[in-house]
Amino acid sequence: MNCPRCKNPMVVLELAEVEIDYCDECGGIWLDQGELELLLEAGEEKDKLLNSFAAAGSVSEEKIKCPICGRKMEKVFIGEDKKVLIDKCKYNHGLWFDRGELLQTVELGVKNEADDKMIRLIKDMFGFSLKE
Ligand SMILES: [Zn+2]
Ligand SMILES: [Zn+2]
Repeated sequence: MNCPRCKNPMVVLELAEVEIDYCDECGGIWLDQGELELLLEAGEEKDKLLNSFAAAGSVSEEKIKCPICGRKMEKVFIGEDKKVLIDKCKYNHGLWFDRGELLQTVELGVKNEADDKMIRLIKDMFGFSLKE
């Protein structure tokens, strides 16, 4: 699969038994439909996060194409205060997170950021690329 931003082939990485596609050029991450759910532990925060997806309408951020179907994705806000803006395939192929956005998103969906296994894993795996 090629990165929807830079068109480079992405590498498949395993994050807690979930296969994710990562672009080491731009630091973006593709999650297939349903994979975000797998990364979060069941709980109130997870439900809140998954229910908070809201179409962003017209935003200035450049539209990119779904790496699976090639159709333009829609911009979606996640989080109660519209904290993170990501790209979602309208045909439910998956979600695209620009550099750092997956961490921001997962932080919204856990009980305790400082003490969450998934947050630590993501930081260990991508920490180097989260710094500008
Ligand atoms: Zn890229
Ligand atoms: Zn698609």
